[in-house]
Formats: sequence, structure tokens, C-alpha cells
Amino acid sequence: MARRFGIEGGIIGVVAAAVVSLGIVGAIASGQLGGPSQAEADTLSNSQQPKKAPRIAPVDPSIVHASDRPGRSLNITIDDGPDPVWTPKVLEVLKKHDVKAVFCMIGPQARAHPELVQQVVAAGHKLCDHTVSHNTGMDHQPDSYQSRQILDAQKMIEDAAGGAKVEYYRAPGGAFTPYSRRLAADHGMRPLGWNVDSKDFESGSVEAIDATVRGELTNGPTVLFHDGGGDRSRTVASLDRLLPWMKQQGYGFGFPKR
Ligand SMILES: [Zn+2]
Repeated sequence: MARRFGIEGGIIGVVAAAVVSLGIVGAIASGQLGGPSQAEADTLSNSQQPKKAPRIAPVDPSIVHASDRPGRSLNITIDDGPDPVWTPKVLEVLKKHDVKAVFCMIGPQARAHPELVQQVVAAGHKLCDHTVSHNTGMDHQPDSYQSRQILDAQKMIEDAAGGAKVEYYRAPGGAFTPYSRRLAADHGMRPLGWNVDSKDFESGSVEAIDATVRGELTNGPTVLFHDGGGDRSRTVASLDRLLPWMKQQGYGFGFPKR
């Protein structure tokens, strides 16, 4: 009888495999390019198909500005680090005001300072890919160049982070292309824009940064600051003034939608 069961088991196995295959073909045909669903993945592992590395779920390739937090909400984003001098100071001021942010990191800097990447993650902030070379003209470069800039930086940041995923992609200077948005999204990174540019990289005073942000906050929820690329003492001082003011205005803090 064991033999009969064996045959039946074999037939059931073949049928199950065919059903799984049809399911996958159906998913692809219906435009679900994200690979097998969780249920299908479970079926695959239960029927002892060869295990593959878990695939990253693609996200929406459009540029996001909205906050995932309902109500009056802002997304604080910090670009061009990590930097051994300024990132710890920015982390300190965010902690002081109990605000979480997105850090858009440059790949080689993340690789050079993995401890900073890990501190960012440990404090509850999120990671964003800001490419390898910060080329603001990358939208005029070939797809192969854009791909290397984005995927190499993602790997550098994720290797440094030791487990956390990079959840967003922000093109330097906003130099997105349809190709780069799709590529990032297919690798689990939502393209991230901004509504309010604090212009903290320019030579204005803390008061000027303060006034710029206050004046533009009606543009939308995503606000841009920098923790790299030069002396960021004015950024730190501005955040220390602006974050409590934002709270007084009734704002809460979320993350950009994914
Ligand atoms: Zn930048």
C-alpha cells in the first residue's frame, strides 16, 4: 500500500506543482510583477521547491511627498550624510525633540561610517538611497550609469546598516528619470521628493533658514535638510528652533508613504 500512496503522492505532487506554476503564470500575466504572494511563497516552501532568496516587494514608482501619518503631519528628511561630525549632532537634536526622520545617504559615506548608519537605524529613523556620486546631472546619463549609481549605493547602505532595508530613493537634485524611478521601486525603494527646501546649504543665517521653512510649509509635508556637504551647524540650530515651533503649530511627524 505504501507503493500506492507513493504513486498517489507523486501524482498529487505533480498536480500541486502544476497548480503552483499556473498560479505564478497567472500572477505574471495579470501584471503582478512582485513575484509570488505570501500564500504562494508558503505553498512553494511547503512543497519543498528549491528555496530562493526572498524577493523585495516592489513599491509605487511615483515620487512621494505625502506622509503616512494622518492629520497635520510633516516628514523630516536629512540628505547628503552620513557625516562623522554632523550626523551625530542632527541625531541628538532629533532625539531631544522626539522626532523621526528619513536619512538620504550617499553610498561611499555610509560604507565609510557604518556605525553612523547603525545609529540612525537604532534611533528609529529610516534609510534612503542618495546614490554613489551625488551627480545632479545623472538624469542625462545612460540607464546603465543610473542603475550602478542607485543599486551600488543601496548595497553599500544596507551592508553598513547590518539588516535594515533602504526604503526610499531620492535622486540628487531631484534628477529622477522614469527609468530610475522604476528601478528604485522594483528594488523596494519609493522615489522620494520634497515640498520645502530649507536651503540650509546656502550661506544664509539660522533666521533665514527658519523663515524659509516657516514660509513654505504650506507647500506640502516633506521638508529637506542636510547633514553632509559642509558646515551644518546652522542646520542643527535651525532644527532645534523649528521642531518645537512645528509642534506648536499642531504638526506631528511621520514618514513618507511607501
Ligand atoms: Zn543631496
